[in-house]
Amino acid sequence: MKKIVIIGGGISGLTAGIFAQKNGFESIILEKHHTMGGECTGWDRENYHIDGCIHWLVGTKEGTPIRRLWEYVGALDGVEIYHPESFLAFEYQDITVNFYRDLERLKSSWLEKSPNDRNSIEEFCSTIKKLQSFQMPVGKPMDMMNVFQKIQFMASMKDIGPIMQKYSKLSVQELASKFKHPALKGAINSFMPDGNFSAISILFPLGTFTGNQSSIPYGGSKAMALRMVDKYVSLGGKVETSCEVTDLTIKRRQVNKINCRNGKFFTGDYFITACDAKVLYERLLKGEYNDPKFQKRYNNPKDYPLASNIYVGIGYESTMDDIPRTLRFPVNSININQNDKPIEHLQMTHYTYEKKFAPKGHSVVTFAINQFEPELTVWEKLIKDKEQYKQEKTRIGEEVIKAMETRFPYMKGKLKLLDVASPQTYQRYCNAYRGAFMGFWPTLSGKSLAHTGKIKGLKNLMLSGQWLQPPGGLPVALITGKDTIMRLCKKEKIKFEELN
Ligand SMILES: Cc1cc2nc3c(=O)[nH]c(=O)nc-3n(C[C@H](O)[C@H](O)[C@H](O)COP(=O)(O)OP(=O)(O)OC[C@H]3O[C@@H](n4cnc5c(N)ncnc54)[C@H](O)[C@@H]3O)c2cc1C
Repeated sequence: MKKIVIIGGGISGLTAGIFAQKNGFESIILEKHHTMGGECTGWDRENYHIDGCIHWLVGTKEGTPIRRLWEYVGALDGVEIYHPESFLAFEYQDITVNFYRDLERLKSSWLEKSPNDRNSIEEFCSTIKKLQSFQMPVGKPMDMMNVFQKIQFMASMKDIGPIMQKYSKLSVQELASKFKHPALKGAINSFMPDGNFSAISILFPLGTFTGNQSSIPYGGSKAMALRMVDKYVSLGGKVETSCEVTDLTIKRRQVNKINCRNGKFFTGDYFITACDAKVLYERLLKGEYNDPKFQKRYNNPKDYPLASNIYVGIGYESTMDDIPRTLRFPVNSININQNDKPIEHLQMTHYTYEKKFAPKGHSVVTFAINQFEPELTVWEKLIKDKEQYKQEKTRIGEEVIKAMETRFPYMKGKLKLLDVASPQTYQRYCNAYRGAFMGFWPTLSGKSLAHTGKIKGLKNLMLSGQWLQPPGGLPVALITGKDTIMRLCKKEKIKFEELN
């Protein structure tokens, strides 16, 4: 039996492990952190649970191929799904713009606000409608398809292709500028900071959301990752946590041993790095097997931006049933890290539908404040002075509480700061390059990356995970984990066990 050593116990590593076990390999997952799941996680603070990941999960619609894949790896076994009615509600003065799941409702509510925007609203909604049928391809990866399968795949994309072409050349701001009403314009603009971020990065999520393809599994992110761990272990897979891989021994174009910070070492026939691509190329391979596709992206952050987060968790001594699950509301310019562009809106998500996330009668809320450049560099400098770093995180948390009290005066005195994570938190716990929570973000000037995970010059080492396909996220971690084992099965002439 051939042995696979998997570096990284996030969703991709777990998926690869499950498929490895199902296809007759022996496998082990080595995870740096003391807990599994990678960025798909959550943590407890003062009797509250802060869900650190899933705002929506593509693949919750029953009967779809990606849902079957999630079920196969045990992520959604017997789990109820929560379907929020709105993707988000955006407040502008006394107007609320809702991105409803029901597209007809979205359209009529927007037309009611701005009849003069009829053409733009209809075009926006008809584009989203076309994207509702988009199914993430979960069959064979492109490089394993024969000509016939490639033609079939291209045919299945015939409605999506023209939309991709049109909107990947349009920025979020250009899309917003099609609307006359400042509330509608503001709602769309609020998704991304200025720059050349492509409009597809908001149209696809709205397509899957309104097409009922993406919702939220009850129990949250950490519970989902732990179900996958259970599945993996039940298939005979082994897990080592607090086991960071620090270097590889390579002989005759083969990795034959890996060493860990805790002094352990592991041998195997194949090695899968289901961790950050930068960790693989720079730390483990010491820059000796660099891939031009990645180098180009690392060297051009303007064309290939990365996003991280400040993630604030707050406890509230009451319920929030009357507030939309995700609300973006205006604030009085919060300054982060002396940035010259203070933030004008905060995005708040509450978890009232999760009875175990807060003590009875209380609620937990999270705020995700996206961080791009130059903020990422500022955090990298700030972490060098631990005291200042801590103070800045606390200050931001307090600013967020003040903003909540201004927006919801009745909450005054009932809010408690639970936790503030910064881009450096993701770097520290997950080895995430610059704290990134997804892959390279789609822009007008950048080309999308499609990578097989093969490492040129090495025969038995592969990369898997969110970095291989834009824009990353949980479905990409899942699919690439499966694809990696498909490729290994082909190499070993093993018939890959198809999903049933
Ligand atoms: C706040 C937040 C919200 C998000 N919301 C969503 C959402 O709503 N929907 C969605 O689809 N996605 C979301 N994401 C993104 C999603 O979490 C990631 O895309 C996905 O979890 C990546 O999985 P992965 O397995 O590719 O990588 P990771 O989760 O990064 O896993 C890699 C693992 O490798 C480990 N590792 C790294 N280096 C080593 C080493 N040297 N040795 C051993 N182990 C190592 C890390 O500790 C980590 O556990 C969100 C992420 C964040 C942070």
